[in-house]
Amino acid sequence: MSADAIRKDIVGKVRRVVVKLGSYVLTTASWSLDRKVFTDVTDSIAALRATGIEFVVVSSGAVASGMGRLGLKERPRVLQQEQAAAAVGQISLMAYWEKMLSRHGMHAAQILLTHGDVRDRKRFLNARHTLSSVLEFGAVPIINENDTVTVDEIKFGDNDYLSSLVTNLAQADLLIILTDIDGVYDCDPRTNADAKLLPLIKTVDESIEELVFGSKSKISRGGMATKIKAAKTAALFGVPTIIANGKRAGTLQDIFAAKQVGTLILPEKNKITSRKHWIAFTLKPHGIICVDDGAKTAMMDKGRSLLPSGIVSVKGDFGPDEAISCCDKDGVEFARGLVKYGSGDIDKIKGLKTDQIEEVLGHFAEPEIIHRDDMVILG
Ligand code: GLU
Repeated sequence: MSADAIRKDIVGKVRRVVVKLGSYVLTTASWSLDRKVFTDVTDSIAALRATGIEFVVVSSGAVASGMGRLGLKERPRVLQQEQAAAAVGQISLMAYWEKMLSRHGMHAAQILLTHGDVRDRKRFLNARHTLSSVLEFGAVPIINENDTVTVDEIKFGDNDYLSSLVTNLAQADLLIILTDIDGVYDCDPRTNADAKLLPLIKTVDESIEELVFGSKSKISRGGMATKIKAAKTAALFGVPTIIANGKRAGTLQDIFAAKQVGTLILPEKNKITSRKHWIAFTLKPHGIICVDDGAKTAMMDKGRSLLPSGIVSVKGDFGPDEAISCCDKDGVEFARGLVKYGSGDIDKIKGLKTDQIEEVLGHFAEPEIIHRDDMVILG
């Protein structure tokens, strides 16, 4: 299939899309909200909604807009000041989304999330139901991290990562990340005039990861590296990603007209379920279990559960039902999963046979350490 045909096929099937807009896209050089961008994006959302496409927006810009309103030149280094800027900016951000969408008879619906809201599966599903109801009412969900109350333990970290989790939460079929450059280049376009845009990335392999320069800007938390990581995460859920320039007028409409704008990153063929995606990417691993080659092969090639006998070592302090990373003997992570036993118990039964569990621990929960239904093989 040609690149054009691939685009057409992908965008032609989209019923629900997550669009992430970065701080640099939504604000001007003086950190005020960019009227041109908001006008273009909300006009496009209205026009495309009329064709049956539902939009879920992940909007950065709270801190940036707060900085503009408070007259700050740089992102505050003190966490509480950054949170205060977000508290001021989130209001103006939402007021502007509402104002611009209301020109088309649509409402903005503010959804502020912390990691704590989605790391419990029930709360994750509750958030999903709320999101569906917002869409049924014809409103446009505008999601952001709840920056004002987040501290490290409940932080997503950056909105690129958040947007990739939202594709699962919203059960969307496309992720669009709008940034202030045209897409992914074969080298850094800011320092290399010959840099070429990559229109299509079939899979995010090591060569792509090496390409991506992880530079950090003063305002947004992610560089291209976090966008590629988000695309890789979405790809495992069977969702393609388009990284494109949100400052350029008409980008959204061009994407849905199947024009070659930005970089399209294709989804993986073997998509994992929503629950497995949540285990692997929404949950943060609380520890590491290193396994021997036999266990690695059984898990990766035969889809087997992890038993105590294959475990070489355990790191971290975690309880049963928590997410952990599985590494091979070289320390390379190849799987994630939910454990049936806590780290202390696993340390005592590592390397043993299943029928020795009860004898050593004095209790028996399950024969497996990670059941294959709770396990995700990465990549
Ligand atoms: N949540 C932040 C804000 O609204 C942006 C985070 C990011 O840029 O990734 O300002």
